[in-house]
Amino acid sequence: MNKIASFTVDHRFIREWIYISRIDGDITTYDVRMRKPNTDNVMSNALIHSFEHLFATFMRNGALKDNVIYVGPMGCQTGFYLLVRDTRHKAVLDEVKRVLTEIAEYSGEMPGSSEIECGNYRNLDVGLARIEAISYLEKIKDETENDLNYETGEN
Ligand SMILES: [Zn+2]
Repeated sequence: MNKIASFTVDHRFIREWIYISRIDGDITTYDVRMRKPNTDNVMSNALIHSFEHLFATFMRNGALKDNVIYVGPMGCQTGFYLLVRDTRHKAVLDEVKRVLTEIAEYSGEMPGSSEIECGNYRNLDVGLARIEAISYLEKIKDETENDLNYETGEN
């Protein structure tokens, strides 16, 4: 079997950051890495789930709503994948930072938090997502479109 692209990246050099994971035609997959891999500091399921509802909702309602293909968590509990079509990297980075600010300041009801709308609706907490958004934004606030490539440790 072929190794999938995300397994070829040396995870020892990944930190809390945003990377380009892969590009398929006009679709770019971003690695929205919120925790450093292979530490004990993974996100809880409640946090991932809460962040997912808000991140997906705000990304799909913002400036790139017509370009966002998918937003979803990594099974390793250290980040999210964000798939965007036909957009410049700078626009995506700016929008992710804007959405993190929106989550950090959000005090409304959790979107999609009913039994009808969600598969585990009791497992949601706006406060958890807010705390994560504040700390992750601090880590990536100075990142630019020139900083999106994975580091290899070969420099
Ligand atoms: Zn849900």
